[in-house]
Amino acid sequence: MILTNQIYHQLKSVIDKERVLFSIEARIASSYDASRLSYLPAVLVKPINSKEVSDILRFAYLNTIPVYTRGAASSVTGSAVPIKGGIVLDLSLMNRIIEINPVNLNATIEPGVVVTDFQKEVEKQNLFYPPDPASADFCTIGGNVATAAGGLRCIKYGTTRDYILGLEVVLSDGRIIKTGRGTLKKVSGYDLTRLFVGSEGTLGVFTKIIVRLIPKPPAEATLLAFFDGPTKPLQLSLTLLDRGILPRALEFMDATSISAVMKYKPDAPIPPETKAMLLIEVDGYPQDVENLARQVEQYIQEAKPLGIIRAQDKNHSQKLWSIRKAISAALFSITAQKISEDISVPRASIIPILQTIKEIESTSGIPTATFGHLGDGNLHINFLVSTKEHENNLASALDCLFKRTIELGGTLSGEHGIGLTKAKYLPLEWGKDELEIFKALKQLFDPKNILNAGKIFG
Ligand SMILES: Cc1cc2nc3c(=O)[nH]c(=O)nc-3n(C[C@H](O)[C@H](O)[C@H](O)COP(=O)(O)OP(=O)(O)OC[C@H]3O[C@@H](n4cnc5c(N)ncnc54)[C@H](O)[C@@H]3O)c2cc1C
Repeated sequence: MILTNQIYHQLKSVIDKERVLFSIEARIASSYDASRLSYLPAVLVKPINSKEVSDILRFAYLNTIPVYTRGAASSVTGSAVPIKGGIVLDLSLMNRIIEINPVNLNATIEPGVVVTDFQKEVEKQNLFYPPDPASADFCTIGGNVATAAGGLRCIKYGTTRDYILGLEVVLSDGRIIKTGRGTLKKVSGYDLTRLFVGSEGTLGVFTKIIVRLIPKPPAEATLLAFFDGPTKPLQLSLTLLDRGILPRALEFMDATSISAVMKYKPDAPIPPETKAMLLIEVDGYPQDVENLARQVEQYIQEAKPLGIIRAQDKNHSQKLWSIRKAISAALFSITAQKISEDISVPRASIIPILQTIKEIESTSGIPTATFGHLGDGNLHINFLVSTKEHENNLASALDCLFKRTIELGGTLSGEHGIGLTKAKYLPLEWGKDELEIFKALKQLFDPKNILNAGKIFG
């Protein structure tokens, strides 16, 4: 068994010693992610290219040392925390946009590129990279690929999974493979790209990513509607789609989320009696967008809202979005602990699952705040745990939520992944045979179980 300080000293001969960090400060900083779980690693390394990643993994493989790949550590499920110590492989320095190709409608980038930085660059060329997690200002594309990140525009444009054309992947023993090319169509060999997307750092380390781009929609309109309760906006969200309107975002916020935001952002223009909000965004050609926005506004009016705000320009739109994007931070400011779940159900099951959440709230006594993406059925349910009684009742509340989600045809996670916090629930969704296949794939790609050891399967 190799000792912690031996790992440090030997790694200094694998990559530039300036980028092998052993100080307690560096190790604490890389011990946690946004789940707030924390485990101290032996050492932190910051490679700058695929060869260095390969050399580090070969060293880890030969010595059977766990490796925890890290983008921006915004995972909310503990998927980036080094639960078994070992090496934290921080890819934030691998942040080059290698090529944006407007003819082929693709780009090749390194994993540490921050999502909005990339989006701004492609938009300069009138192109569009739609995946848009609410954490886009700080999370990395590598992390997005590893978690198959969703976000705010999935209803119209899909998730990260739909934009990954190919990957360069370093396997656990240091071999470097390629999984796809820049073509939109590919029927040659197995689709390893799709297997790696969403693998949460357990099958390989992505060192280059080829993403698909589309032309940038020239115009968009953002509307925020306020209601006296959840029934009208929930019904309205179904009505819009029934009437043939496909918005690019359809975001719901419940009363608890709203009241937290009102305290956190007292200048937010929310009528005080608001108990539910719907944020709707449409895009396309300017004239179409104008017509669509008018239609949407008319349908909202028919649902008798407390008020509607339509963004006057891009700046105003960002202000409306900042209300939605503030929810997570606002909830942290009103509770000692926040357990965030992100189940996803078929759209027809949204109303039943919201009823279940209310029942769980009343039996467990734990307040909840629910917001999320109505267009694709992905809801963020936050259990606001602030007393001993809440802590005691949390496990049965989660159990109840997940069981009902599966009964309704849904999944444990729409976008955050399984990581550490949901590992024990995986058998609720998958049977023995499927779990055996998952584990056989893990064994094939990572026979020594060093990559993100302890995640997904516990
Ligand atoms: C306020 C807030 C809002 C959020 N909103 C959303 C949202 O709308 N939609 C959504 O999907 N998520 C959301 N998230 C969750 C999180 O931002 C995503 O899971 C994101 O994809 C993680 O990216 P990251 O760079 O921070 O990765 P990390 O947290 O560092 O890592 C996440 C996982 O990816 C693996 N990984 C990272 N890079 C690589 C790589 N190059 N190769 C292999 N594995 C790798 C890690 O090992 C880990 O398992 C939100 C989080 C916060 C805090």
